[in-house]
Amino acid sequence: MKAHDGMYIGGAWRPAAGQDVIEVVNPVDEQVIGTVPAGTAEDVDAAVRAARAALPGWAATPPAERAARLAVLRDVLAARADEIAETVTAELGSPLKFSQAVHAAVPIAVAGSYAELAATYAFEEKTGNSVVHHEPIGVVAAITPWNYPLHQIVAKAAPALAAGCAIVVKPAEDTPLVARLFAEAVHEAGVPAGVFNLVTGLGPVAGQALAEHPGVDLVSFTGSTAVGRRIAAIAAGQVKKVALELGGKSANVILPTADLAKAVNVGVANVMSNSGQTCSAWTRMLVHRDQYEEAVGLATTAAAKYGERIGPVVNAKQQARVRGYIEKGVAEGARLVAGGPEAPRETGYFVSPTVFADVTPDMTIAQEEIFGPVLSILRYEDEEDALRIANGTVYGLAGAVWAGDEAEAVAFARRMETGQVDINGGRFNPLAPFGGYKQSGVGRELGVHGLAEYLQTKSLQF
Ligand code: NAD
Repeated sequence: MKAHDGMYIGGAWRPAAGQDVIEVVNPVDEQVIGTVPAGTAEDVDAAVRAARAALPGWAATPPAERAARLAVLRDVLAARADEIAETVTAELGSPLKFSQAVHAAVPIAVAGSYAELAATYAFEEKTGNSVVHHEPIGVVAAITPWNYPLHQIVAKAAPALAAGCAIVVKPAEDTPLVARLFAEAVHEAGVPAGVFNLVTGLGPVAGQALAEHPGVDLVSFTGSTAVGRRIAAIAAGQVKKVALELGGKSANVILPTADLAKAVNVGVANVMSNSGQTCSAWTRMLVHRDQYEEAVGLATTAAAKYGERIGPVVNAKQQARVRGYIEKGVAEGARLVAGGPEAPRETGYFVSPTVFADVTPDMTIAQEEIFGPVLSILRYEDEEDALRIANGTVYGLAGAVWAGDEAEAVAFARRMETGQVDINGGRFNPLAPFGGYKQSGVGRELGVHGLAEYLQTKSLQF
């Protein structure tokens, strides 16, 4: 157990204003592995002031130099990749291999992508008799969740730094250790004091104080739709810009011409990955009625393989929440074909990889985000029915379409109300815009579209 002190504010680790701490628990064995300070409004204020003071200098720093800092940051993260993976495994519980391949590797790729974009982006352009300058939006408040703890921070900090913004990050209370590691990396990379600041703390205390702070120009939030709604309301009162990455309930649409076994196996893997704690997970699998029982059989077999392989969910509250949803699925008449509500182990916040068949679109498990290793398989009659079901939730973050012919899959994907669709198992692209239609959010992260969130335009006429 290690007691970590201080907040990273103005380029140094400073003692927190209050005495309260947050305990960090390893979800595998339920042991406290460390504590971090629980920041207050006073800490938030100090961090925002430091960011405001640093903003003019960083905004005026040539983009090539900002790009160079980001390239060093990417290299520092790469040099500390093992430590990142071990830290995420300790505080999130994800298997080490997954932490290495995803939790450590993706942030390195994203930091690298913004090093390149900062160097090549046209921060100035001509249109008619005007020159348009893309200027940093100002001081950014970044409030992040625990599910991909470093990725969620880097997906905000890297474009903010590339744009010339100063930033204050409030990471999730369950995973503050990798956030501290990131602050060390930013320091090591030589980012000027005050450009990046970190305040650990509780959402309703430090998070809310940060969102409400008048010195913040943009609140970039990733988390639940309920909290996102509150943050948008706070920002509206101050006419402050928000970027929101919220929940999802994505559809994996398997058209009759698809390679059924591949589509089902990849679909199950997608849902079980990170113990189902992925906002873009394809938690609803849509299968044509003629192939339905075959798909259910394939999914049942595939899910069984994950029994020993997946990690726990992040905490006891999430475990109880996910198990509650599984009970609700049974109570509403869905057919349980794998897993179930019983905890598979006595210790740790584990949930059995669970698959439901005979799920109808109106059931709770087909509508609400579960955020655990739970897949619902729904039956459709024809393509129009599949589209109605796919689009029939308040969410629209991601999705997948499988078909024998790519053009057929694309035609279907174009009709989906969602921000990102993988065609026949398309790979993750760190440059592709990521974000939601409908209640899945406002704005986009990653790549050039992500950079644009941190910029505002000024036009000069000649
Ligand atoms: P959450 O909304 O409870 O917390 C997210 C962050 O907000 C945390 O840092 C938390 O401390 C902070 N927070 C909580 N209350 C706050 C308040 N009143 N004011 C300001 N900040 C506050 O979400 P979670 O449980 O940490 O994460 C799970 C949710 O996040 C899921 O719904 C998931 O879909 C969503 N998510 C979305 C994306 C995306 O990109 N769309 C990515 C990851 C997670």
